[in-house]
Amino acid sequence: MWKGIVGKPFAAEDFREYVAGLKFNPWRPRFVVVHNTAAPTFADWHKHPGEVRMRNLEHYYRDEKQWDAGPHLFVADDFIWVFTSLTTSGRHSPSWNPFSWGVEVVGNYTTEPLSPAVLANAVSAIATLHEVIGLDPATMRAHREDPKTDHTDCPGPNLDVEKLRAAVSDELALRQVGEHVPGALTPEVLDNVVITATHKTKKAMKAKGAKPKHKAQRRKKKSARGKK
Ligand SMILES: [Zn+2]
Repeated sequence: MWKGIVGKPFAAEDFREYVAGLKFNPWRPRFVVVHNTAAPTFADWHKHPGEVRMRNLEHYYRDEKQWDAGPHLFVADDFIWVFTSLTTSGRHSPSWNPFSWGVEVVGNYTTEPLSPAVLANAVSAIATLHEVIGLDPATMRAHREDPKTDHTDCPGPNLDVEKLRAAVSDELALRQVGEHVPGALTPEVLDNVVITATHKTKKAMKAKGAKPKHKAQRRKKKSARGKK
């Protein structure tokens, strides 16, 4: 039975927010499979409004192919379109459908050059997928690597999957840096934290009328242990 589509466009930052709000139980993919659409080509993509594209693609996968789902994302220069829900398995790569996300980069990268805007959205979208469930970009695959597929040109050579993987790794590293502010904990800062804590402890003990242990008392204990 056809699973239905989400059919919504997101700018890269909005996509990150959307994905962060998804719940992934019980289905959870193990890696991303990268495709290019081939048809439609990038040159043809904007000949129809995005919503019409989604309906045409739904017709293709549901009625012509008679599949229960399609790929998860279609990544263009302006938007990242969510097609099959990211919280369920799709259909895009015969060996890997049950446990992967299928990402279609819009264009035919055997014949067309990859535009920087499409690449930027692809890197961001794929990094977001890796980020949300903690995938390692090393696990990312190209459709043509599927031993059961006859799509040996998916994606075409103008979309270099090795370079895409490296760019996704870089993007993930940048996002992590943004979260913990490097260099904030210098030795000076750490020293201040320790000194402040010691003062507080001494003050608290004085307030309770307790005296810090005298050095002589500590020495006594030490020598007592030494005799054993
Ligand atoms: Zn493919």
